[in-house]
Amino acid sequence: MATLLVKNATLLVTMDDEDHCWADGGIYVVDNRIEAIGPVADLPETAGRVIDAAGMVILPGLVNTHHHFYQTLTRNVPGTQDAVLFQWLVTLYPLWARLTPEAVYISSKIAIAELMLSGCTTSSDHTYIWPNGARLDDQIQAAQEMSFRFHAARGSMSVGESQGGLPPDSVVEDEAAILADSRRVIEQYHDADRYAMTRIVLAPCSPFSVSQDLMRESLALARSYGVHSHTHLAETRDEESYCLANFGRRPVELAEDLGWMGADVWHAHMVHPSAEEAKRLGASRTGVAHCPSSNMRLASGIAPVPGLLGAGARVGLGVDGSASNDSSHMLAEARQALLLHRVMGDPAGLTARQALRLATRGGAAVLGRDDIGALAPGMAADFIGYRLDTLGLAGGAVHDALAALVFCHPPQVDLSVINGRVRVEDGMLLDVDLPPLIARHNALARALVRGERA
Ligand SMILES: [Zn+2]
Repeated sequence: MATLLVKNATLLVTMDDEDHCWADGGIYVVDNRIEAIGPVADLPETAGRVIDAAGMVILPGLVNTHHHFYQTLTRNVPGTQDAVLFQWLVTLYPLWARLTPEAVYISSKIAIAELMLSGCTTSSDHTYIWPNGARLDDQIQAAQEMSFRFHAARGSMSVGESQGGLPPDSVVEDEAAILADSRRVIEQYHDADRYAMTRIVLAPCSPFSVSQDLMRESLALARSYGVHSHTHLAETRDEESYCLANFGRRPVELAEDLGWMGADVWHAHMVHPSAEEAKRLGASRTGVAHCPSSNMRLASGIAPVPGLLGAGARVGLGVDGSASNDSSHMLAEARQALLLHRVMGDPAGLTARQALRLATRGGAAVLGRDDIGALAPGMAADFIGYRLDTLGLAGGAVHDALAALVFCHPPQVDLSVINGRVRVEDGMLLDVDLPPLIARHNALARALVRGERA
């Protein structure tokens, strides 16, 4: 039995149902779960490992609900810097067609490292292009090697240009092969147990790149195994036009027709639901990954997050793919959400605490988990700490340590514990040699864009 005591936190924020916070707080961990939490005076005095968190705010690890790890290779590609979604995709598809298993593996490590250092302890990823032998296994290997909690979405595209879709035919897959591989990865990797480190999600890409048959069959397959389903929906006005022209339905209506609503489904973006559609998303407890940076970056619009929350939808935050953010900084995403929902004139459109709650409890709910996102006895030992005596927080954290994390420039973590294991200490990612990883990633990124071998 391994025990860990984190003590003397300047502020300990639980995000539990009563929103408990303690000054001079601590957490006592046994193996991978929280055994006790509260004022240090109420906790065991020592443990196998003791970390002094004096000068830190401690909170639940952040949960990222939408990403495309492989896109770290194509951040900031000049031809995509000022494009809307469809043009951005059409420019990038041919580059992504050159992905290799190594590129998927290395880019996953880069994205996970960036996420972890920003405070994220759990992420989903939605890779939907699998050329040249790349497989979901390459990503799962990266996450497992880094001891990162991972919901791996087996994405897919099946309708190429010749069939009226947006992607080139060269990057789409056969639908029977998609379903067979989906079944394979569920059986090989999906862990339904509490504290699971690896879960599988099935994730046909979008209305303009897969068939309605695949949407239906993928959902049925997911439900037969009790795994969740994910896709992009209602992201842009172009998508809305495409759906009306091709299916005679708005995107949310299409999802409803296909059964893609409910507590085991979440949609990325949801920028353009009507007020009535938002109510139906809420009534069905459908999940939404809100991606403010990406929506601003691609000029997609502003998702009606207060309306979705008010209707009862499960809402979390997503950094989205690294080619439309172009960052994997989860705490910065909470700040973007805070700012975006004020820009139209409401100075309290989203408060700092609401933004951080979306990034923790909200994300956990979207991924269908009740063992992460809050700190309490019996929860997974996933928590993070930020030092408060830094330049960026100077003069801010002294007034409100929690809100400073998103009102001031979002810092990187000094401490991250995932499933009871210390993964970041003194601001350093443990067991990962970043410089050679970054060097290899950059070589792969250059080769991908230039069409060369790395
Ligand atoms: Zn996306």
